Amino acid sequence: MSHKREKVIFLADCESFYASVEKAEHPEYKNKPVAVAGDPTRRSGIILAACPIAKSYGVTTAERLGEALNKCPDLIIMRPRMQHYIDVSLMITQIYEDFTDLVEVFSIDEQFLDVTASLSIFGDPLTIAKEIQQRVMMQTGVRIRIGISTNKILAKIATDIWAKKNKSGIFTLLPSDVPKMLWPEPAHKMFGVGSRMSKHFAKLGMVTIGDVATTPLPRLKDKFRARFGKQSDIQAEVMWRTANGLDDSPVTPRTFHTPPKSIGHMMTLPRDYAASAEIDTILLELTEEVCRDCRLKGYMGWVVTVSCMCSPYEEPTGFSRQMKMPDPSNNTNKVFEMVKTIFYQYWDHMPVRRAGVMLSTLVDDQHYQLTLFEDQEKTRALDKVTDNIKTRYGSAAIVRASSLTRAGQALERSIKIGGHFK
Ligand SMILES: [Mg+2]
Repeated sequence: MSHKREKVIFLADCESFYASVEKAEHPEYKNKPVAVAGDPTRRSGIILAACPIAKSYGVTTAERLGEALNKCPDLIIMRPRMQHYIDVSLMITQIYEDFTDLVEVFSIDEQFLDVTASLSIFGDPLTIAKEIQQRVMMQTGVRIRIGISTNKILAKIATDIWAKKNKSGIFTLLPSDVPKMLWPEPAHKMFGVGSRMSKHFAKLGMVTIGDVATTPLPRLKDKFRARFGKQSDIQAEVMWRTANGLDDSPVTPRTFHTPPKSIGHMMTLPRDYAASAEIDTILLELTEEVCRDCRLKGYMGWVVTVSCMCSPYEEPTGFSRQMKMPDPSNNTNKVFEMVKTIFYQYWDHMPVRRAGVMLSTLVDDQHYQLTLFEDQEKTRALDKVTDNIKTRYGSAAIVRASSLTRAGQALERSIKIGGHFK
């Protein structure tokens, strides 16, 4: 076959997900403003989701409960049931899987579907989108919005800018529509642009998404470098590709199989490290690699093991010790705290030659325990963005600031590969 067939990709998003699940199960609140809040007993609690009626009063996600109640005194506040939302989310995934096996979970309420091969069975994209909306509504009471395009980034943009706003909740954005439809939109509406970045764009004289898209990439890189320094090339490229609607990453379904026993990394250092600042850098890099691996594979671990071998070789000292965390995790910062605790409890202050970090007693990360989940959701989202960029551009793309010091091995190792074993 010489002709490459265009793909058909959906981004399906649940409207006000947690609030919709609660409303579906509490018909008595059908016409009332409902919000789900982190701690309903405190005015400082955070709004995690607000139903469309609550939103019409100006209630927004992530604001303080106190502020929300000022805007909407009759707001009904529900305590979150995170495990239940995860179960509903899985149920929705299964509905999508009736239409295609290519379903990628992007977040708890957003999933990508590649329906290219389903068209001959289920009909055109719009027919499939409507059918999906109906099935999910019937089975869960949640309204789905669907952006349709030929790749993931355009499908996501189609949802965020248009399908969330129009009546049908479905919007098709073809690549040929990008200049006419997307480019006149303000730069802050672009996926991945927060308020800080949009201020930078404004100072660079870029007001619309088209201003970013039509700047030649080398020039955009120069402008970014002048503002953010040398490390910003990747960021410039991500922005430029997004503004142009370019994305060749495939929809990647999760693979279900029994978890491995452990995920770990170990490295031999180029010289002996004795200063804790240097050692911390290495431990953070190892932790980052292990956690990233876990996140990519969809696991979290309960038990952290830290091992280390100290010089001299003739009479090496060292240890391998483990501790269980209060909750399973694959969050770099959380695991790193435990890694440091273990290391400094057992280290005899001899110069370090080799160090390793391992996570074991792995569980599927869909069933994570929620302690402070408003926070956890945020860190998970951040980890995910980092991982996506690393997956696309190689792990040299993003290196934590401490890795740029001499002790940092991540940059060199990610280029070399093979400096470690799994
Ligand atoms: Mg949503």
